[in-house]
Parts: sequence; structure tokens; C-alpha cells
Amino acid sequence: GKRFVFAKHFDGVPKKSDFELVEEEVPPVKDGEVLFQALFISVDPYMRPYSARIQTGTTMIGEQVARVVESKHPGYKVGDNVVAYFGWRTHTVLNPDKNINPLDNKPSKPYILPDFGGVSLSTALGVLGMPGNTAYFGLTKLCEPKPGEVLVVNGAAGAVGSLVGQIGKILGLRVIGFAGSDDKVKLLKEKYNFDAAFNYKTKDVTEALKEAAPEGVDCFFDNVGGVMSSAIISCMKLYGRIAVCGSISAYNDDPKKPTLAPIIQPSMIFKQLKMEGFVVSRWLNIWQEGIAQNLQYIKEGKLKYEETVYEGFEKIFDAFIGLFKGENTGKAVVKI
Ligand code: NDP
Repeated sequence: GKRFVFAKHFDGVPKKSDFELVEEEVPPVKDGEVLFQALFISVDPYMRPYSARIQTGTTMIGEQVARVVESKHPGYKVGDNVVAYFGWRTHTVLNPDKNINPLDNKPSKPYILPDFGGVSLSTALGVLGMPGNTAYFGLTKLCEPKPGEVLVVNGAAGAVGSLVGQIGKILGLRVIGFAGSDDKVKLLKEKYNFDAAFNYKTKDVTEALKEAAPEGVDCFFDNVGGVMSSAIISCMKLYGRIAVCGSISAYNDDPKKPTLAPIIQPSMIFKQLKMEGFVVSRWLNIWQEGIAQNLQYIKEGKLKYEETVYEGFEKIFDAFIGLFKGENTGKAVVKI
């Protein structure tokens, strides 16, 4: 088996040398244990800020879809597919009842996936998993969207953003997206049916919103933070709602030399805005409702998704760093 150990805390942009590739014998499966083999490993932006809290010398954190190849546990049989926080490793031997999610140090049993009916199992890491629920619950619970309102989402061609925009359309909103290339902008308009989309690298955000939302923005789903978010917030309408999902623009910043952004307080005050941050695990108690809803949208042909698939365990670093270079369209996953 192979695994990537988190060897050094990141300084700025993560480097390959911050990880160490370890090869080792897969231990024998003892009573109560299961051997899982990774099929797909997820790379996600949260791994960058979250890594500050993990100890060096441990397996790098992350979610994966894995298959049971040997089982001495009554709840898991050979051939079952699970989704679990096993980290960046090809093989995992453990007692599933004792598995701990390193993100919150709470027990977290590997979840046996139902039959996806032809939909790729990798979607358990994307549209039918954590990013899908981030989009669905973050938008519906925190942005309080009403039909006819204007929704802005940035990081709009990514795993979460592309779903936020499409769910916004399903709910009857006028949807405006920002993404980092002309190809992504084309995808937003043509495949995902966004009403307007802009390349934030070549178009001034405030100008874009003057054109596309002259009356102002009601709902803002923020994946990016920083200067772009301040500009969007300055274009909001009275009583607008902001869901703060992520701030990827600053994840690689030096905390001692942060990027400065215009203050948002005047807009917050005079437009009487509501801004709320969230971690998607807030909705663990209704997790399967989000998955079921997104699956239904897919089956109805209303929700489309892309994946950027990197082939091979050793590509995992490239996949991870690609997130900060805008390399991925939709969910970035590594096929093992
Ligand atoms: P994405 O699939 O959106 O991948 C990251 C994308 O971010 C890139 O493709 C790139 O697209 C964009 N990006 C990278 N750097 C910058 C930058 N400096 N400025 C603007 N855009 C940038 O990732 P996810 O969909 O998985 O995550 C999106 C956001 O949601 C992240 O901030 C993440 O941390 C957050 N998140 C939060 C959760 C929560 O519970 N709060 C749960 C899951 C995700 P482009 O080409 O457009 O620049």
C-alpha cells in the first residue's frame, strides 16, 4: 500500500516536498476489521487551511471512495463501496466502528454507498457528497432565496459553485457567475444555464454587476473572499443575504502579509445585509436529504456536473495544487 504523509506545514503555496510518499505492507485483517481499497480520492480546498491543525508525520487528510476487498466485520461485505475519511492512502485496514474523522475527532463509520444506478461512484465525493450538500444547504438555508431574486456565485465553475448556480436556477433565481477563464464562462452559460457569467480575470467585477444586475444582488454565495467579495458585497440590494462558504483567494496568503480588501461594513450597515458563515457538517443530521434531492435533480436532467479526473495515486499532489491554479472544472478527483 501507499500513502502520503503530511511531512511539513505549508508555507505559502503547498509544495510537493511538504508530503512524503510511504510504501508499506498492508497489515493482516484481524477480527472485526475490514480492508478497504481506494477507488477515488478527493482533493478539496479546505485541506489547505485545515492542515494548520494537523500534526506532521500523519497521513494527509481527505475523503475517499473505497471498496471492501476483505472483511471480518458483519456489517461490511466484499464488494461493498464506501465513502470515508481515510486520507491520502491506497489501502486502509481498520475496524469501521472505531474509525475517527480527523477533521473533528468524532467517530465516523465508513458509509456504505447505495447503488448509484450508472452514475459514477466518484460523485460520492462531489455532487452526491460533501460539495453537493455544501451547495444545496448553504444556498437554501442561508441565502433564503426567493423566485425572481438575483443570485451571485463566485468560483462558479468549481465543484460547489457550479451546483449553487444550477440549484439557484431550479429555484427560479436569476443567476450570475464569476469564474477564471473564458472556457469556464462558456460552460456556465451553455451547460449550466446561468443568466450571465464573467471571467473575473479580464472583467471588472463591479462593472460586470452594473451590467448584469443593475438593481442589485439579493443573494451572494461566496467561495472566494477578499477583493472580489468586497466588490460583490458593494453591489448588493437592501436586505441581501450572504452565505460565506470559503475564501480560497487567501488560502495561500502569508498570515503576516494578508491581501487587503476594501471594507464591507458600510454596505453591511446601509444595505442592512445578513452574512453568515457555515461548515457543511452543520447539516449532518439531514445529510441524506441533500444527497437525495441532488440525485433527483440529476435524474430529472436539471442538475449537471463535471469532474476533472487525475489518473493515478501519485497524481494526488498535482490535483491538490491544481485547485489553486484553477486547473479543475467541477469536482477534482483522483482515480486510483
Ligand atoms: P473548486 O472546485 O471551486 O476549486 C477551486 C477553484 O477556486 C479553482 O478551480 C479556481 O477556479 C478557484 N480559485 C482558486 N484560486 C482563486 C483565487 N485566488 N481567486 C478566485 N478564485 C480562485 O473547489 P470547491 O468547490 O470544492 O470549493 C469551493 C469553495 O468552497 C472553497 O473556498 C472551499 O474552501 C469552500 N468549501 C466550504 C465548505 C464549508 O463547509 N464551508 C465545504 C466545501 C467547500 P477559477 O478558475 O474560477 O479561478
